[in-house]
This record gives sequence, C-alpha cells and structure tokens, in this order.
Amino acid sequence: MSDVTLDEIVSLCKRRGFIYQGSEIYGGLSGTWDYGPLGVALKRNVMNLWWKMFVEDREDMFGIDAAILMNQKVWQASGHVDTFTDPMVECQHCKSRFRVDHLVDNDEYENETKEYFTRSLAFVDSLPAKYEEYSQEQVAQIGDIFGHAQTPATYPNQTTKELREYLSSNQEQAKKYLGNFPRLYLMRSAKKCEKCGSIEWGDTRTFNMMFETKVGPFADTVTIKPPRTIEAGEEIALGGPTGWWIKPSENTVYLRPETAQGIFTNFKNVVDSLHPGLPFGLAQQGKAFRNEVSPRDFVFRSREFEQMEIEYFVHSDRWEEAFEQWRLAVHEWTKALGLPEEKVHELEAPETDRAHYSKRTIDFEFDFPHGRDELLGLAYRTDFDLMNIQNATGKSMEYQPKDGGPAFVPHVIEPSFGVERAIMAALTSAYTEDEVNGEKRTYLKLPTHLAPVKVAVFPLLKNKPELVAKAREVYAMLKKEFGAVMWDDNGNIGKRYRRQDEIGTPHCVTIDFQTLEDQTVTVRNRDTTEQTRIKIADLIAGLD
Ligand code: ATP
Repeated sequence: MSDVTLDEIVSLCKRRGFIYQGSEIYGGLSGTWDYGPLGVALKRNVMNLWWKMFVEDREDMFGIDAAILMNQKVWQASGHVDTFTDPMVECQHCKSRFRVDHLVDNDEYENETKEYFTRSLAFVDSLPAKYEEYSQEQVAQIGDIFGHAQTPATYPNQTTKELREYLSSNQEQAKKYLGNFPRLYLMRSAKKCEKCGSIEWGDTRTFNMMFETKVGPFADTVTIKPPRTIEAGEEIALGGPTGWWIKPSENTVYLRPETAQGIFTNFKNVVDSLHPGLPFGLAQQGKAFRNEVSPRDFVFRSREFEQMEIEYFVHSDRWEEAFEQWRLAVHEWTKALGLPEEKVHELEAPETDRAHYSKRTIDFEFDFPHGRDELLGLAYRTDFDLMNIQNATGKSMEYQPKDGGPAFVPHVIEPSFGVERAIMAALTSAYTEDEVNGEKRTYLKLPTHLAPVKVAVFPLLKNKPELVAKAREVYAMLKKEFGAVMWDDNGNIGKRYRRQDEIGTPHCVTIDFQTLEDQTVTVRNRDTTEQTRIKIADLIAGLD
C-alpha cells in the first residue's frame, strides 16, 4: 500500500488542473477523464519519455500509428469478438452488475473452488452407478451441488460418469468465474452487494468489453444465422433455440480495445517497406477503449485510456533471451518514472490466469493507493497473432531472413504499458508531505523530465515596473530554452512556492532588487527548499 490516499491524489489533480472527471459539467460520464493544462503536460512527458527510451534510443525499434477504427475481421481473427469478455454477476435485488473477479477474494475463491470440487467429486464417486438406486438424500445433495437446473429430476438419465464430466467442466468454468459456482460461492460467503447490501446473486454472464459503432450512412442490419433452414411462415421464438447466432452487420466496427492489433496488421507492410533485420520491434501509442463493467480507482480503470505497446518479433528459438531483455527494460522504465523499486513487483502469471495465446506472462504490479495492482504487462504471445492473420487472410506472414536461411513466422514478445497507470504510479511516488518553517507542505517530487513545468519565474513585486521588466527578460530567455516555463506574480513569494511545489516544479527563479544591481537571481530548489544566488548568464546551465 502507498502512504498517500487516492482522495489526496484525486483532489490535487483537480485543484491544480491535472485531471478532471469527463463531461463533469453535465454530471460526468463514468470511466472517462479529461486532462487539464498540467495533466496534458505530464501525460506528454510520460509518453515522450517512453518513445525516446524504446524507439528513438534504439536501433531495432520502429514506430507506427494505426487507425483506431479497423476492419471488424481484425477482431474476429484475434478472438476479441468471441473471447474479450468479463464475467459479470447481477445483484438480484437492485440489478447492479459487478465483475465477479473483482467481487471475490481471489485466493480464498481459488482455495474454495478446489476444496468444493474435490468434495463434490468424492461424493459423486460414492454414488451407486444407477440413478434409480440413489437415496432421497443423495438426490437432494446432487441438487445442492449442481444448482437447480442440474438435478437428476431434470436430467433423470444422468449417470455418475456424466455427473463427473459435468463437474470437471464446471470446475474449468469456475476457474474463469463462470458457471454456477461463483453464485453459490457468493451466497455461501454472504457477499453483500456494494450498492444495496443484498446477498442474492444471479448466475454469471459474460459481457463483451468492446465498444461498437457503425461506419457509413446505412441503418444497422443484423444477420441471424439459424442452425437450419427456416420454413416459410414458421414462427421464430425470440432468443431462438441453441445453435443460433447473431452475425454483426457488415458495417459494425469496434473501437480498438488494444493498440496491439494495429501493429500486427502492419507487420507485413513494415517488413516489405523497411526490410528490418530480425529481431526488431514495432511500437505504438494511442487510445484504447474498453467497456469496463465497473470503472474505478480514478484513472486506473477507465473506459477510454491510452496504451503504449511494443510487439518485438523474434525467431521462436530466441524468445527467452528477448523476454529477459524486455523484463530488464521494463525495470528501467519504472525507474525513469521515479517509482521506488520496492513498490514494483513482478507477478509471474500461472498458466490458468494467462491469456489463451500466452506461454509466459509477467504482470508488473505497483503499490497504488488502492492496493497492489497491475501497472503493465509483459507477455510472450508466441506466433498466435501473425498465424491468425495468415489463416484469416491467406497472406503469408513469413519473414525471410537476410542470411538466406529458411523463412518462418516470427514469435512475439509484448511489453504493454498503460499511460494512465504510469501517471498514477508516478504521482503516487512523487506525492510528499513535509514541514517547512512549522507549516505542512505538500509537494510532488517528480523527476525533472516528467515535471509539467520545468521552472517558474517570479518578479518579487508585481507593481515595480523595473523588476517586472527584468523578470520578463529572464522568463523569455528560459522559455526559449525549456518551453515549459511558468510566469507567476500572484500573491506573496511563499504562496507562489507552495503552488509550484504542489505541481512539482523543480526550480523557482525570483528576480529582486539585487538582480537589478548585480545580474543575479535567487533559485529555489523544490525538494530541499534551499535558495542560491546564480548569475543570469549561468542560469540555463545551473538549472539542469
Ligand atoms: P486488468 O487485468 O487490470 O483489466 P489487463 O490485463 O486486461 O488489465 P492488458 O490487456 O494487458 O490489461 O492491457 C495492457 C495495459 O493497458 C495494462 O497493463 C494497463 O496498464 C492498461 N490498461 C488496461 N485496461 C485499462 C483500463 N481499463 N484503464 C486504464 N488502463 C488500462
């Protein structure tokens, strides 16, 4: 856990013009955030730092910027249309919906699942082979285990073999928070609805997190594909029998839920136009959209956010080496954000938690104010995405090595970063309180390269034209050099220092009467609050 509270961060962000609730004036739109003047500067600094570290400073990296709207086939081939879902449970009383995996204590859930299924299997194994020989008590117990829909009364021909099979598949479902186990678990552990306090829960449903929209001027048409030919005049029941499916209309498109697919779809273009040697990587920054069931914890879980992703293409024999290099590079990144090493944790994802395409994943977690949670991810995605594209389009994704060796479909290491979570982690780490002259002071100890304002310039008094003119001169000189320079002549110097401290400005320069005599200024350091006199001529070099 961090020392600073989420409320303190949110309130500073609003008070000082970093981040506001999206559409706030109209009552807000959940999961969206607007960046104010200082927030934009901070966000740009974070994104530029990333671009410099991972693209500009390296020989093996290339940048791309793909469109947000992509052909819907991209998301069918990638599996997002079918599997980019969250397990959701509904409170039967107030109808609020929650993500099951956020509602439960995950370790406890895992232990209970194991224990419950082991017990249930043992019970099923103890049953006589034939249903007719079950006692009333056993029938009732089966009802309890399988939920009402699965009692032998509704499926009278069930054999113990079938019950066993059903249990195993239910256990697999339970691991993904699906099936009827999560409901039974929530009821048994008397988990209360966060909104109304009820403990009545419905079955889990999946919910696709992609936002849909339409391209073109035509009204939406949805194709329903029945499993058989429909007879003329036949009445079709709403919902349809099993086996029916709905095909999105041709003009449905999705707002991208990740930037990665824009990279994969351009792999061939880049190879054909730049002929890079392997290994090489493609990097992209940009907006991603996810219809999160419950956006929360400030910008941590938003519906519209910014990602910075890299797909690093390697020969399948070399993935472990590349994975290790990127693991170390990720630590360099967290250092550059100013995150204390002891607050960054690597969580090796067990096979059951990994995305279906991943052979190895490390979640990098950080001690956020709301608790330890995912900051960014590093995954070995094998050749899953390029093979999907190859299979779906019939176009070869093979890479021909320059040494004339056999062509192959590259494998991929994917470091995937979220801008909002990087900003939250940087703000959390920078937020500091101390005491200066007996007064409490709050300041952001941001690394200089992230600070939205590099230096602030103050004339000691704003009603002395000679001081203001000199200060303007210094301001113009610094502005030309650093760009992000702020002018402040409002209130007493102490108050101006406090304002700059709160937004993380590393240096404040004050022009006073002595400046007019000897061309020196006072430079005050944010972290130590020490003041030194520096010649104007030495100022630029002195501020680095
Ligand atoms: P989570 O488990 O927290 O939902 P995820 O594992 O689905 O995250 P990825 O799909 O791996 O996340 O996305 C890569 C990165 O994008 C994350 O590590 C995070 O930094 C960022 N990210 C993902 N979802 C969101 C979101 N809703 N809001 C802000 N950032 C996000």
